[in-house]
Amino acid sequence: MDCIFCKIIKGDIPSYTIYEDNIVKVFLDINPMSPGHMLIIPKDHYENLDDIDINVLTHINNVAKKMHNLLKDKLNIDGLTIIQNNGDVQEVKHYHMHLKPFYKENKGLNVEEIYQILK
Ligand code: AMP
Ligand code: ZN
Repeated sequence: MDCIFCKIIKGDIPSYTIYEDNIVKVFLDINPMSPGHMLIIPKDHYENLDDIDINVLTHINNVAKKMHNLLKDKLNIDGLTIIQNNGDVQEVKHYHMHLKPFYKENKGLNVEEIYQILK
């Protein structure tokens, strides 16, 4: 299957990986909506909310809590928006949860600089 996120999991495409276990991988979004914007993806290929396994979804939410703490500790975020697109608004057809930090004051940091702080 020609899935870009499966290729990231296999290591065929590089990513700024922040966290990984046997069920998920977390990496920085290459085109961030704000500094520290990251994606949580399952290692198994599920397309969207319709076909994802409920236990995997629970694990993704647990990892989201962990990443929320990391973002508060390391980047002093002032808020966090979680987005998960389906259907016509979903560009990459491999389930992913967006974690988008909010800052009261804009942090002018690029993906590489954020990676050095979070890795
Ligand atoms: P969505 O519209 O929810 O499918 O969003 C897909 C997201 O994946 C976008 O925010 C992209 O910037 C991001 N993205 C696409 N390719 C990569 C990649 N190779 N590494 C990191 N993020 C990516
Ligand atoms: Zn995939």
